[in-house]
Amino acid sequence: MYHSVADVTGPADDPYQVTVTPARLERQLSWLRHRGLRGVSMDELLRARAAGRGARLVALTFDDGYADFVERAVPLLRRHGCTATLFVLPGRLGGTNEWDPLGPRKPLLTEDGIRAAADAGMEIGSHGLRHTDLTTANNEDLARDTAHSRELLRSITGREVAGYCYPYGTVDARAVEAVRAAGYGYACAISPGPLTGVLALPRIHVGQSDTGARLFLKQLLHRRRREPVPTAAYTQYAAYVAAQSKTAPDATMPGTTAPGTAAPDSAAPDTAVPS
Ligand SMILES: [Zn+2]
Repeated sequence: MYHSVADVTGPADDPYQVTVTPARLERQLSWLRHRGLRGVSMDELLRARAAGRGARLVALTFDDGYADFVERAVPLLRRHGCTATLFVLPGRLGGTNEWDPLGPRKPLLTEDGIRAAADAGMEIGSHGLRHTDLTTANNEDLARDTAHSRELLRSITGREVAGYCYPYGTVDARAVEAVRAAGYGYACAISPGPLTGVLALPRIHVGQSDTGARLFLKQLLHRRRREPVPTAAYTQYAAYVAAQSKTAPDATMPGTTAPGTAAPDSAAPDTAVPS
């Protein structure tokens, strides 16, 4: 789980630790490659796992839809043969991260920026309309945040929107139900505990201090700290994809436009985790 890719001069610059420098991201992507792993969108990872493949794939996600994603992250991802999922806020197009009171203010992508990311082969998912914590939202806001953000993104990209990402990683059973009702096929959280499943996937935060050694340790701890994703999650996602293509045969599912979608078939141990 990444957020912003930009130059950082010190910790005071980045109180929420949401920024990695392009140089650090480059080293992290190299680290994956040297271990025989490849970063892909969440859609591609889930499809591959459903087909019994994907042991060497790691899902890369970027939350909030910062403008720097297109300028700084996309060129590095492409250079390393990776794709990723970008979770954006269609209620704050061209705005800033006003939900972080300490700042610094970072510009968010416009409609054109979101299309540029999609055209570069990245999956676009919803992070809600305006970065609202779903566990404290009223029923009306809950439905709007999930369903309306999905409609807006579909009209911006012209593609189906399969993924949702809970702002702040906070999730409860009511939020999961709203995400399901809005028509998403998967949703990302951080540490969803007993809710862990296709609509509450665990992820690991990756930051500027994450060297290869720290990433290795985080991967080990992830398995102890978080509940495993049940195998049923992958078959549920495959069923969702099949149902979507039946009800909307002309709609483009997110994974169908990503370059390099052929996942390496591998019998290697399952070392990759949604991150
Ligand atoms: Zn966020």
